[in-house]
Amino acid sequence: MFCSFCSFPPASRRGFLALTAAGVAAGLLASPADSLAASAGAPTSLTADQALAKLIAGNDKYVKAPDVCANNLLKQRVEVAKHQAPWATIVSCADSRVAPELLFGGAGVGELFVTRNAGNMVDTATMGSIEYGSAVLGVPLIVVLGHERCGAVAAAVDMVQKQAKFPGSIGPMVSAIVPAVQAVTGKSGDMVENAVRESANRTAQQIASSSPLIADLIKKGKVKVVAARYDLDDGKVEFFA
Ligand SMILES: [Zn+2]
Repeated sequence: MFCSFCSFPPASRRGFLALTAAGVAAGLLASPADSLAASAGAPTSLTADQALAKLIAGNDKYVKAPDVCANNLLKQRVEVAKHQAPWATIVSCADSRVAPELLFGGAGVGELFVTRNAGNMVDTATMGSIEYGSAVLGVPLIVVLGHERCGAVAAAVDMVQKQAKFPGSIGPMVSAIVPAVQAVTGKSGDMVENAVRESANRTAQQIASSSPLIADLIKKGKVKVVAARYDLDDGKVEFFA
C-alpha cells in the first residue's frame, strides 16, 4: 500500500491532525479518577457528534482513496508523547482485516482509544478500558464495531445450530455471543449477518446501561455509544441509528 504521499516531505502532508491539535483547547470532564490519568492535560474538545462525523469522513476517505501514510506520524508522536486526548473509543473485533486506525482514514497515534477481541464483546477488562477512555481521558464517542462474516459470530451460530464446541477459552468467549444468535434465530436473511448486527447493538446497549460511569456521562450529554458494522468487501462502515 505505497502511495505518492509517502515520498512527500512531512511539511507538505495534509493537516489531518489539525482537529486533534485544536482539540486540547477546552476541558470536557471533571475526571472522577484523576489519579488514574497518565498525565495532566485537557481532553479532546470534540463532541460525540463531531467525533462521529470525523469517523464517517475518515471511513469515506479510506473507501475512496485509501493510503497508510497521510499522517506525519513523527510530529504526531512527539505531540502526544506526554499526554493523550483520544476522541473516539472503538470496540472492534481482533480480526486482522478490521484495524480501526486504517479503516477510519488513517488515524494516527493519540486519536483512537481501541480495545479489540474476537467478536467485539465487552468483558471486565474491556469495560474498564472503555470507562477509562471516557471518564478519565474524556473520550466523547464509543463505537462498537462489528463486521461482515465475523468468525467469532459464525462460531456462535455453529454453537447454536450444530452444538459446536471449541477448545480452551475460545468456547466461553464465543458463548457470550450466543444470546445475540438466539435473538435472531428464525429471522429471514443470513444468520451470521443478522447476529453481527444484533450483537453489536446489544454490546452498545450493555455499555450504555450496565456501566454507571458511562450511563452518568450519557445522562450529562458528554458521551454517546453507537453500534456499527464494517463491510469487508467495500470497506464501508455503517453506523446504526
Ligand atoms: Zn470478527
